[in-house]
Amino acid sequence: MNKAVKRVVIAGGGTAGWMTAAALSKLMGSDLEITLVESEQIGTVGVGEATIPTLVFFHRLLGIDEAEFLAATQGTYKLGIRFENWRDIGKDYTHAFGVTGRDCWACGFQHFWLRARDMGFAGDFGEYCLERRAAESEKFSRLPNNGLNYAFHFDASLYARFLRKFSEVYGAKRVEGKIEQVLLHPETGHIRSLRLNGGREIEGDFFIDCTGMQALLIEKTLHAGFESWSHWLPCDSAVAVQTEAVAPPVPYTRSIARESAWQWRIPLQHRVGNGIVFASSYQSDDSARQQLMGNITGQALTEPKLIKFQTGRRRKQWHKNCLAVGLSSGFLEPLESTSIHLIQQNIVRFLRLFPDQGISPVAIDEFNREAEVDVQRIRDFIILHYKVTERTDTEFWRYCRNMSIPDTLARKIDLFTETGHVNRDGNELFVDSWQQVMFGQGLMPKRYHLLVDVMPEDELRNFIAQIKHSVDSSLSKLKGHNEYLAEMLMRT
Ligand code: FAD
Repeated sequence: MNKAVKRVVIAGGGTAGWMTAAALSKLMGSDLEITLVESEQIGTVGVGEATIPTLVFFHRLLGIDEAEFLAATQGTYKLGIRFENWRDIGKDYTHAFGVTGRDCWACGFQHFWLRARDMGFAGDFGEYCLERRAAESEKFSRLPNNGLNYAFHFDASLYARFLRKFSEVYGAKRVEGKIEQVLLHPETGHIRSLRLNGGREIEGDFFIDCTGMQALLIEKTLHAGFESWSHWLPCDSAVAVQTEAVAPPVPYTRSIARESAWQWRIPLQHRVGNGIVFASSYQSDDSARQQLMGNITGQALTEPKLIKFQTGRRRKQWHKNCLAVGLSSGFLEPLESTSIHLIQQNIVRFLRLFPDQGISPVAIDEFNREAEVDVQRIRDFIILHYKVTERTDTEFWRYCRNMSIPDTLARKIDLFTETGHVNRDGNELFVDSWQQVMFGQGLMPKRYHLLVDVMPEDELRNFIAQIKHSVDSSLSKLKGHNEYLAEMLMRT
């Protein structure tokens, strides 16, 4: 099909649909006709409110004003995730977004820290990470030189509304309607149009499937295939509920491991998003609902909503003239808040390979290859949290400790325990995060790099003390999270 793509149809208007519409309309709107079809009657999944720092760059790419975005979405800042009871009951750690310590050319900071720890003068690993200290002190400021890595929490339905307004300014057109049929070109098998209830037909050159877990175009019509990862990520269900805020929002997400599940708390300005993620083979829906409702603070504002999911990836995220973005492309459970990141990755990758001169099989292959690498790395990082636990108190945790893991992850764990080194594969999204989570879960390397032993003890003491001093000094310049947030909101 060597037809230039001029008419893009986005099916679905959740976070994925509106992020896609926003990017395409802002960056290519003058060359394209963009139509988004969504159905109020069907609605959206209604969760997905914690993000990672890459969203800041997505907003910068689109020229979205941070204060306006925070005001419109009841947003707050996020510096990381507090993992409670994951290593073992009562043993908590924070995975913060920043860099810990300072590397040298030959080895990472963890090697210096390991020797200092052996010699008795190092604090906790996280003490040398500004974002971690700021999260725990509930502080936040974006200062010109503090380089703080941050993300956001926001209300997902308000975010979709905000992006809808944004996209419409740049020419995207919204059509309300339920897609009842996806019509194909008989010769090519490419999608020709979407038929809506009432008979209206929306034609296009290219279709973006943002219909969520239904995957109406990419799977139900084009049968792109699905690779299940549920043997590595056994959770397949969640219950979500919103509660009133009873305390000012903290700048981090909480992830609290339970007997056979984990619970999230996402603090927004006006309310808290709560949920429990569990494996139906270890816990019933009713028991999970009860456990969640017994562990919330503040009045529930919504009825608890049960969501069923399967972890895995769509084998071809771009197939023929259809691209899957969002839940239609697959799902990794929400432990590290990575789905919205994967949405934006697919959007940016599609922009880079945009088929303005027609659809090229080489571009499709490259897209699918890169998308697979991206999602596999994140998958391994998420599995790590379950695998490297010391918990043996329930059948669920015993399964996680003993389950098989992908070879790519096994290599990463072995390399770290044998040498203290974390391999960085090209465009690795989480770099420092691996060390933070591995140390946090109690994994300790057998040795550190020999270069550290070359350093005289006084020099090592100085090096460690200097880093601590520099983090302390940066921390002292930060405002309280709520004070800073209030100042940001005043700017709108
Ligand atoms: P949806 O929100 O389901 O939107 C689908 C759209 O398609 C809707 O507009 C719907 O009306 C439309 N549609 C469907 N069928 C039709 C039809 N026949 N006709 C017309 N329109 C139709 N991600 C994160 O990054 N951070 C998190 O903290 C996080 N937490 C999560 C927690 C849970 C329990 C789950 C399940 C997911 C979580 N995610 C998270 C993932 C996140 O929710 C999604 O990636 C994100 O919301 C995008 O969803 P979507 O737009 O693909 O699908």
